[in-house]
Amino acid sequence: MQGVEVHLPGGVPIGEEWCDSAWLRPVTGREEEFLLSEGRQMTAAARVTELLARCVERLGPVEPVGAELVRRLNVGDREALLLHIRRMTLGERVSCLLSCPNCGKKMDLDLEIGELLLSPYPHRKKTHAVDIADAENSYRVMFRVPNGEDQEAVANSAAQSVDRAAELVLRRCVERVDSRNEENLSELPPIVLRDLPGKMAALDPQAELLLDLTCPECAAGFVVPFDAGDYLCRELATEEREFYREVHSLSWHYHWSEDAVLGLSRRKRHIYLDLLSDELAQGGRTA
Ligand SMILES: [Zn+2]
Repeated sequence: MQGVEVHLPGGVPIGEEWCDSAWLRPVTGREEEFLLSEGRQMTAAARVTELLARCVERLGPVEPVGAELVRRLNVGDREALLLHIRRMTLGERVSCLLSCPNCGKKMDLDLEIGELLLSPYPHRKKTHAVDIADAENSYRVMFRVPNGEDQEAVANSAAQSVDRAAELVLRRCVERVDSRNEENLSELPPIVLRDLPGKMAALDPQAELLLDLTCPECAAGFVVPFDAGDYLCRELATEEREFYREVHSLSWHYHWSEDAVLGLSRRKRHIYLDLLSDELAQGGRTA
């Protein structure tokens, strides 16, 4: 299968180089089978890691890629890769059904993947520095932006408290804090805990896409987050029996092995199923 090259908004250091190119393939029946089986028991972050480790064929000079490198990618890069995989697997157009938080009416939302992908970031470095000050003191904070490893590490806490998980991620990402009169503080000052998340998020905006919407019924404006991993996994989650019925149909009629059918991209599998259904409707006259 020929991979398609895409660019990451952030990028990752590999050896001496800064790498922002990835080669991807679409989701096949094997990933759908994974989502129907082991994937169900996993946390969302671990599921995304596994999906990316399978579909990212090459990252910069590294091939094969594997889970460890995929975990080191910034959250925004992982989201961008999921959006590209979505585009390759199910196309450009995305449709969602939302409820207006003001009037409760359902609204349809049509998006294009291209609108959700952000341009490359201007910064190309792993460690960032910001100054944060309160009335008494000022702090220089050295930190990195959160990656897949952080998301996986706090996934169990996130199930209990989102705020607690966010703080754990923050603590993992801070490398050093110096104040005016003390170096390398052992505790994060409250002002840093309060102000750093916003500064961190601004350096990896692809990590949390916020859609600015207006309700067509009541004209209220509201903002909803768009989680590419969650969206893609829900779209791909076919009924187990329906999935194996599709695999069975192709194996049965074409005499292909289960392995060969699972290796087809979802799109190709559905094209063959359509052709087969046309053929069977005509009573197989042209076969
Ligand atoms: Zn409304």
